[in-house]
Amino acid sequence: MIDWKIIDTVLLDMDGTLLDLNFDNHFWKEFVPLKYAQQQGMDLALAKQQLQPQFKRMEGQLEWYCLDYWSTALQLDIAGLKAEISGLIAVLPHVTEFLEKLQKTSKKVLLVTNAHRDSLGLKMEKTCLQPFFDGIISSHDLGLPKEQADFWKLLQQQQPFDKKNTLLIDDSLAVLNSARLFGIAHLISVSKPDSKQPKKDVADYPAIEDFRELMAGL
Ligand SMILES: [Mg+2]
Repeated sequence: MIDWKIIDTVLLDMDGTLLDLNFDNHFWKEFVPLKYAQQQGMDLALAKQQLQPQFKRMEGQLEWYCLDYWSTALQLDIAGLKAEISGLIAVLPHVTEFLEKLQKTSKKVLLVTNAHRDSLGLKMEKTCLQPFFDGIISSHDLGLPKEQADFWKLLQQQQPFDKKNTLLIDDSLAVLNSARLFGIAHLISVSKPDSKQPKKDVADYPAIEDFRELMAGL
């Protein structure tokens, strides 16, 4: 699937790529509506109905990933709520083996995420993956989400990489599309970002179900 010899930089997404998206899905689809319903004294079904279009509207925008934005919009302590169910934060199968193997090479490994710094901090604390990366970049620090092609230009200014020899692994098609538009040559998707959901069909990019598929030749 990938010729490791030509790759010198590996960009890795966090949620849905290295970490089980079940945490985020459960958090936004069940836990937040539940807390919102309790706070507003409304029915859970109604709370879900009210929140869904609000979430939909912000998709792909930096605010969607911003805990402060949602804390204000919903009048809930979003960071605190995340910490409350942090037991659900989990590394996807074979990720640690893959990162260990990658660390033994001379390749530069960057975690590149749309997650807010608070969320990122909580997840690194829970998973202990931090030492595997040469750098951790939150799109909030650069001011653009990964879904915008200019994000990659800003990233490249901060962390120089050669587009031809760079691999990005990300479960978001919108993110892969923006990276392709920018010119990153090697793009791989993830077909099972959420361990509790069925495998997704990914048409536009080669996709892995888990990281064993990428370990040959590394
Ligand atoms: Mg993701």
